[in-house]
Amino acid sequence: MKAIVLFSGGLDSILACCVLQRQGVEVIGLNMITPFHDCSRDAAKRAKELGIELVTLEFGEEYMAMLAKPKWGYGSNVNPCIDCRTLMLRYAAKLMEERGADFVATGEIAGQRPNSQKIHQLTLISRDSGLNGKLVRPLSARILPKTDPELSGQLDREQLRAFSGRGRTKLAAYARQEFGVKQIPQPSSGCVLCENSYAPRVRDMLKHKELPTLWDAKILPWGRRLRLDPTAFVVVGRRAEDCDALDELFASPKRSRCVLVYPDNYNGASALLVTDEAPEYGDENPTISDKLAQYIETAGSLALRFSNPDRYRVAKPNGPQGRLFIGATKMIIPLKENPEVDSIPIIQEQEKKAKPKRRPEESEEAAE
Ligand code: SF4
Repeated sequence: MKAIVLFSGGLDSILACCVLQRQGVEVIGLNMITPFHDCSRDAAKRAKELGIELVTLEFGEEYMAMLAKPKWGYGSNVNPCIDCRTLMLRYAAKLMEERGADFVATGEIAGQRPNSQKIHQLTLISRDSGLNGKLVRPLSARILPKTDPELSGQLDREQLRAFSGRGRTKLAAYARQEFGVKQIPQPSSGCVLCENSYAPRVRDMLKHKELPTLWDAKILPWGRRLRLDPTAFVVVGRRAEDCDALDELFASPKRSRCVLVYPDNYNGASALLVTDEAPEYGDENPTISDKLAQYIETAGSLALRFSNPDRYRVAKPNGPQGRLFIGATKMIIPLKENPEVDSIPIIQEQEKKAKPKRRPEESEEAAE
């Protein structure tokens, strides 16, 4: 008997594998990299320790389409967990077919996560992924409806577990006692879609672009994001690595339309202006409309706003200049200070919400 197990390298997925292996199931781990979460290194390390094969796959543009319009909405931030899990499981279902496996399993525990692991949500995920009875959650199986491998007698339900709720102490004890797991993995830092500091940028992207691309997601972590109007925003580097990343993003053939303003005769921040007014990638004779010229001037002023004035004010002989990369060409342009750009707000971190006090039932450890 063979199973594909969604495998992050965390405690739950390790235990799901162990519980199945104990029943003689051959396990193949599947690790999915999303544009916002990559735990493939941890997963590879843990898979090696467990002695299982690991397949790592990366989502393409379909992840962004899902993020833009998740059927089941978002969790506490911009995390579309139910749809995200469903998409992962569709990949797992495909791998199951390709590898001639009998079923798919996950380390999900009923009630562990408020946004995707309530029992009715687990049922939705089984249905929407198309796996239905072929999806087994070995750690909570005994409190969930019977799955195909249990009904057919391939899996002994009594040897599956009945964990539920949050908390890790009982799970960790079970892992140590039953399977001799010595190093219990720390809970992962998780995906940035759940982070207060990240969500405003994602919301800004979703609000202004109907169908964002992977490129639009790749630009989110870098620098300061400043929105000029609904059709244009500028990212200004905060550190050298931001500026390197902006360079790289500009060089990508899959980029959204943008132009790059790079300091030419002084050391300072570069600015990437993203707008549909910008020319296509590789355009050798780009046209600069009046509107685009205005945006470029503002982007240049923003680059100065976040650069050290002592450096650019001494730039000789013509004052600070920028190298403008536009389409497939490059030109030198003067950069002008403009106090009006000080009022363009940076899309900021959300204030941290005070942690709600846990109700007693929420602080219970996973109970079996
Ligand atoms: S936390 Fe992120 S990676 Fe995990 S299910 Fe939710 S959206 Fe997907």
